[in-house]
Amino acid sequence: MPEASAALPFAGRTVLGIFAHPDDESLACGGTLARLADAGAHVVVVCASHGEAGSISDPALVPDGDLGRVRVRELRDAAAVLGVAEVIVLDHPDGDLRWEHVPELHAEIVALIERYRPAAVITFAEDGLYWHLDHIGVHERTYTAVLSLGAAAPPLYYVTMQPGVMREVVEAAHAKGGAPPDSSFWGIAPDAFGDGANPPTFVIDVRDWAARKLAALRCHRTQMGPNNPMAWIDEDEARRWLGVEQFQRAPIDATGDAVLEHLGEITHAD
Ligand SMILES: [Zn+2]
Repeated sequence: MPEASAALPFAGRTVLGIFAHPDDESLACGGTLARLADAGAHVVVVCASHGEAGSISDPALVPDGDLGRVRVRELRDAAAVLGVAEVIVLDHPDGDLRWEHVPELHAEIVALIERYRPAAVITFAEDGLYWHLDHIGVHERTYTAVLSLGAAAPPLYYVTMQPGVMREVVEAAHAKGGAPPDSSFWGIAPDAFGDGANPPTFVIDVRDWAARKLAALRCHRTQMGPNNPMAWIDEDEARRWLGVEQFQRAPIDATGDAVLEHLGEITHAD
């Protein structure tokens, strides 16, 4: 474990990550979640849906057709790899998170923040990683939930992806002749990832956690079949392309200190 971790102010403190589907946690910021866990944080991942509307890489993985149930198990496996202490799966409709159950999801997030009193909350930014409407919905609900807490609001952080890195992953997979030429990430063009992201205000170096991030991603077996370029990269490539995670502090007055910035390097002041 890196020597800096021991001095970081995370021991015994809770960090809440709020996402839409199983696998978002690993793809968006699996390295940071693992790094926080190693630094002593109690990391709680909240997933708004069971991911039941997702793709299925191999029907044999879902023999009874209940994809949501399988994906929750995959999420628990990924969480174990990352060192996440608790996984909370809510039951909102995958594919309709921006429109359905709006007051219910808002209220659940408020209740979770009141229950855990986290030192930091992490969720998607306005771009939803790649304009995914479910991700944008979770961003909106989390923002309004944190905002509603007023003076008791915890620091809120938005995670975005680095533009261009998913293309690197695709090209590496193709260079190995592994992934088929039409391979993509769940039908999403690689350049869409991070394309609409605002510049981060700080980045976190997770190169030493990239192998675990890749392993956690691969726990989501229904989503990471052999057609997925992520199946073809090795740990060195993960370190290169998945080894930086980028964040912005949400524009909300919060009483807590700038806890996540302790792990990061400031990229631009604002
Ligand atoms: Zn997602």
